[in-house]
Amino acid sequence: MAKKGQTFFCEICKQKVVVVDGGFGVLVCCGKEMTLVGKKDMMSVWTSAHKSPEEGSGVHFICGICGQKINVIYETTGILECCGQRMMMEEVSNG
Ligand SMILES: [Zn+2]
Ligand SMILES: [Zn+2]
Repeated sequence: MAKKGQTFFCEICKQKVVVVDGGFGVLVCCGKEMTLVGKKDMMSVWTSAHKSPEEGSGVHFICGICGQKINVIYETTGILECCGQRMMMEEVSNG
């Protein structure tokens, strides 16, 4: 079960997301369970190579079943799923 603030990535397409609102569902990408990134260690490595990873792409995905919401940090063409169905995309308006 994902918790708010946790980072997950897909080992297949390298898509990376941060949990905005936790849910009971399991995050899946490319048909495979996403991997939880160890918060401190991995993020420090990531930030050294990429600037401001927390900002994300401004795209959120929401699960219609468990309400889990994620922010996509590194977007790929991989299909994000939760609770066995595709997550719904939500454009975030910055204003
Ligand atoms: Zn993927
Ligand atoms: Zn779900």
